Amino acid sequence: MKIGVPKEIKTHEYRVGLTPGAVREYVAAGHSVLVETNAGAGIGTTDDNYRKAGATILDSAHEIFASSEMIIKVKEPQSSEWAQLRENQILFTYLHLAPDPEQATGLMKSGCTAIAYETVTDADGGLPLLAPMSEVAGRLAIEAAGTALKRYAGGRGLLIGGVPGVQPARIVVIGGGVVGTHAARMAAGLGAEVTILDRSIPRLRELDELFEGRVRTRFSTIDAVEEEVFAADVVIGAVLVPGASAPKLVSRGMLSSMRKGSVIVDVAIDQGGCFETSRPTTHADPTYEIDGVIHYCVANMPGAVPLTSSQALNNATLPFGLALANQGFAAVLENPHLRAGLNVYRGRLTYRAVAESLGLPF
Ligand code: NAD
Repeated sequence: MKIGVPKEIKTHEYRVGLTPGAVREYVAAGHSVLVETNAGAGIGTTDDNYRKAGATILDSAHEIFASSEMIIKVKEPQSSEWAQLRENQILFTYLHLAPDPEQATGLMKSGCTAIAYETVTDADGGLPLLAPMSEVAGRLAIEAAGTALKRYAGGRGLLIGGVPGVQPARIVVIGGGVVGTHAARMAAGLGAEVTILDRSIPRLRELDELFEGRVRTRFSTIDAVEEEVFAADVVIGAVLVPGASAPKLVSRGMLSSMRKGSVIVDVAIDQGGCFETSRPTTHADPTYEIDGVIHYCVANMPGAVPLTSSQALNNATLPFGLALANQGFAAVLENPHLRAGLNVYRGRLTYRAVAESLGLPF
């Protein structure tokens, strides 16, 4: 199959659909890969690296779209991109169609087969192509907190791990899923005192076993959240209620009882955030302060580390992308997990929740 990798054009997107390492895998499986010139610039890789991996470099996105049977990207197509998609062409990328009627209509009109990373499933009912970005965001959350805790950044002037004889930071993680687990792992690794709150007792049991006593677990009630947040130096918001906005677990009123210079990192900001005072920020201006509490609410945290993020994403997409390249649309019919990723097919929406939220036929 001919696979095309255009350069990402969404503002501040530096990741790339296929790394040179992934290109090698597709080429080894007998496929041709066409890569737009400079597609890898954001992760510091060159056209030559792609050529060495077996790709052909083309000068424009137009040539990539015109010559490929499958397009592999990172971000949802922008209007100039969906206008170039066509019938029988497969698009494999993040789509997030539910809040985006324009893109949904554009994809339906194109006649392409669009498979969304974010709805592909795995045998455990997880979302394997979302998980790597949650892993990145969880780990980054502690780095962001460490920066914000510094005095010059408005924080308490506290070193996360302390030093021998001096208390480390108290870090509270609300939500013990993928983001929360990776945040807790980083925090515990640095020597912080870590507590994870979750509503799921089975999940708390798993976390208890995983961390073997290095991290405390606590069932998430209003009381527990209040007690933990008031005593914390850092609170990480990492809750997810699938298909819904994040519940607001920390109110504005609670901030005044937190320590001055403590830090909130609201990773769940892309679902509206779990702190009443959260509003989305950017990497260019990531923090703001309310009632003496520093807020970090960057909505696309993995964008800060496009090299790591592209590699993690490529590792996860590779088996699915190879199945599509080897079998074409038959892979979707055969593999229920890829089938779950199918959002648009022959001009129709094929993902019920997306169709319902857009008020379009399913
Ligand atoms: P996940 O489903 O793996 O984990 C969510 C956890 O929250 C679950 O364990 C669930 O039991 C728990 N939870 C639900 N309600 C709760 C409550 N009231 N109190 C405590 N725990 C509760 O999800 P995830 O992959 O870890 O993602 C978490 C959030 O981070 C999502 O909103 C996701 O979209 C977001 N995210 C943001 C970025 C970013 O760049 N800002 C990047 C990746 C993920």
